Amino acid sequence: MSARTEAGSPRTDPAAAGRIGPDDPRYADLAHRGFNRRFRGNPDYVRLVGSTEQVVQAVQEAVREDLRVAVRSGGHCLEGLVADPAVRVLIDTSLMTGVAYDPEMSALVVEAGTTLGELYRKLFLGWGVTVPAGESPDIGVGGTCWEAPSASCAGSMASRRTTCTRSRS
Ligand SMILES: Cc1cc2nc3c(=O)[nH]c(=O)nc-3n(C[C@H](O)[C@H](O)[C@H](O)COP(=O)(O)OP(=O)(O)OC[C@H]3O[C@@H](n4cnc5c(N)ncnc54)[C@H](O)[C@@H]3O)c2cc1C
Repeated sequence: MSARTEAGSPRTDPAAAGRIGPDDPRYADLAHRGFNRRFRGNPDYVRLVGSTEQVVQAVQEAVREDLRVAVRSGGHCLEGLVADPAVRVLIDTSLMTGVAYDPEMSALVVEAGTTLGELYRKLFLGWGVTVPAGESPDIGVGGTCWEAPSASCAGSMASRRTTCTRSRS
């Protein structure tokens, strides 16, 4: 995102993309942070990714090892799709919170781990615009663009200078 005008998110230390297993103090928080406590997964490890390249690498490694993968953004999936005991690798996008303007596409790019609260704040302070995506600040853009009909991924963005908002992971 270096060529773009960012509204502030420090790039992630590449070391953070390593495998976070049950012995790591971060594991319990990352593995069990889903909103719906009815479901509980126990992945072999969590990948805390910070870039598209790290996502690609994490998926490739899991596929090579024939391990089932799930991806988590804000953690508000109500079904047991992420917190599923069959999931062996959990890719967590919490650190991917970049919001940037892409002049080539004349569009804003929003990384998948950005929460709605962060998105509203960055869009407003960075560009004076917003999106109609609901009122829960903790839900993730990744899951919302994938699932929720109220999200603005189809380009319903109220904006002075942009044409659409896209989620990227
Ligand atoms: C308390 C609460 C408040 C909410 N408020 C709002 C709101 O204000 N505005 C709004 O637009 N929406 C709202 N929602 C709905 C929310 O947008 C969706 O639940 C969204 O999917 C959550 O995204 P996430 O990134 O937080 O979830 P995460 O759990 O991080 O995202 C995972 C996403 O991947 C999907 N997924 C994972 N594995 C699979 C699979 N194998 N197959 C298919 N899909 C898969 C999940 O369904 C989910 O969409 C709310 C939900 C809750 C529980």
